[in-house]
Amino acid sequence: MHPREQTIFALSSGRPPSAIAIVRVSGPLAKAALEALAGGVPQPRMATRVLLQDCEGQGIDDAILLWFPGPASATGEDVAEFHIHGSRAVQAALFAALSKLVNVRPAEPGEFTRRAFENGKLDLTEAEALDDLIHADTDRQRRQALRQLQGLLGDKARDWRKRIIEAQALIEAGIDFSDEGDVPAELIAPALATIKALLREIEETLAAQGRSERLRDGLTVAISGPPNVGKSTLINLLARREVAIVSPHAGTTRDVIEVQLDLDGYPVTVIDTAGIRDTEDPVEQEGVRRARSRAAESDLVLWVTDGEHKTGRNEMTNPAAVVWAVRNKIDLDSVDGRAGAGAKIEPGQGATFQISAAQGVGISELVVALGAFARDYFGSEEDSLIGRERQRRLLHETADGLRRCLAVAGQGDELAAEELRVASQALGRLLGRIDVEDILDKIFREFCIGK
Ligand code: GDP
Repeated sequence: MHPREQTIFALSSGRPPSAIAIVRVSGPLAKAALEALAGGVPQPRMATRVLLQDCEGQGIDDAILLWFPGPASATGEDVAEFHIHGSRAVQAALFAALSKLVNVRPAEPGEFTRRAFENGKLDLTEAEALDDLIHADTDRQRRQALRQLQGLLGDKARDWRKRIIEAQALIEAGIDFSDEGDVPAELIAPALATIKALLREIEETLAAQGRSERLRDGLTVAISGPPNVGKSTLINLLARREVAIVSPHAGTTRDVIEVQLDLDGYPVTVIDTAGIRDTEDPVEQEGVRRARSRAAESDLVLWVTDGEHKTGRNEMTNPAAVVWAVRNKIDLDSVDGRAGAGAKIEPGQGATFQISAAQGVGISELVVALGAFARDYFGSEEDSLIGRERQRRLLHETADGLRRCLAVAGQGDELAAEELRVASQALGRLLGRIDVEDILDKIFREFCIGK
């Protein structure tokens, strides 16, 4: 039997031990699995308490079962859910019993969702949203994924694709007429009007998005500057917990160099570039390699200085990033009168802040400004429909096709029709209706097992 036709099972709830664990079974043998282990099939969608037994009649667990006959199920196939006690032993016993059934096997990552997708239960944008919802760390990520899961982008894309195909049909009809030496402008004109309107809608959608697809990865802020100015002290303060070793000697910051913050629902990664230094330790090397590549892609750099150290550039950060000047240790200014509060700060491209990381002065202003930067960066939440780079790229491809169609319309209707085909195919790929297997494989492989 082809693996696609086999019946699959997996733990769909979190890691054991837990109070309850949910094991899902999907495929043509889901019913047979229920009969084998529960001695019968419960009423559809009715929670039913059953003593599960293996094929030797040994008890497995006192469980609750749910039976969803296809196609009215999450995957579109027959689905059985076993709500068992969440210990490793119970789970192992149930898995062993399921594995004894021929053509029943453990699921691959994302295989339930892939089956749902293949059975038309959701389009690819919704499948991606489901994965994003499962991985959402912050409230904004959750809300964006949920909006996508409601199919808003998919609905638009389906409508656009339908209208493109209609316009294409009009133009192709025009081509047929032109073979007879007579191109009726009344066929082409409405098609081009549709294309113009569509292009405007897609451009508006793209423009309204900010960088919503980046919400999955979050914003990267690099703390940079000369040694000993208080970068690690600042990152500690931002994380509100001890994450880096703060030392009075330059160059001793090691260990954790990244902290994840949730600023007003936006995911923000702050990197302490002082912690990025070469090391022989292979474990540390991996952390350093990651931090280095993250710093190279930073969206914002906090360039920290103090009264003594003002110069020096850090090549590690992204040259295109916005730079904010942060003048630290202002508590010392008033004590020894070195520079005086309100001292001149190195000009940055952006805002300037005066703080005392040691005393927590000026930090809340900095955090508020970071939150505002994030809000600006990701764009307005209400309009955000684009959840992934893949989706944005395909919308751009669609718009490009429409633009080229309008450009060539006067010169050759075959070319215009061909551009419309390109545009509708891009939307087809967005929805996952036209695609090569390996792209689908890649997308679903990133999912969790049991989803
Ligand atoms: P880094 O090398 O830039 O990461 O600097 P550290 O965070 O390790 O700080 C260097 C030294 O400056 C430590 O002794 C800190 O306690 C001290 N320091 C950090 N921030 C302040 C501040 O706002 N005021 C004063 N007076 N000292 C600070």
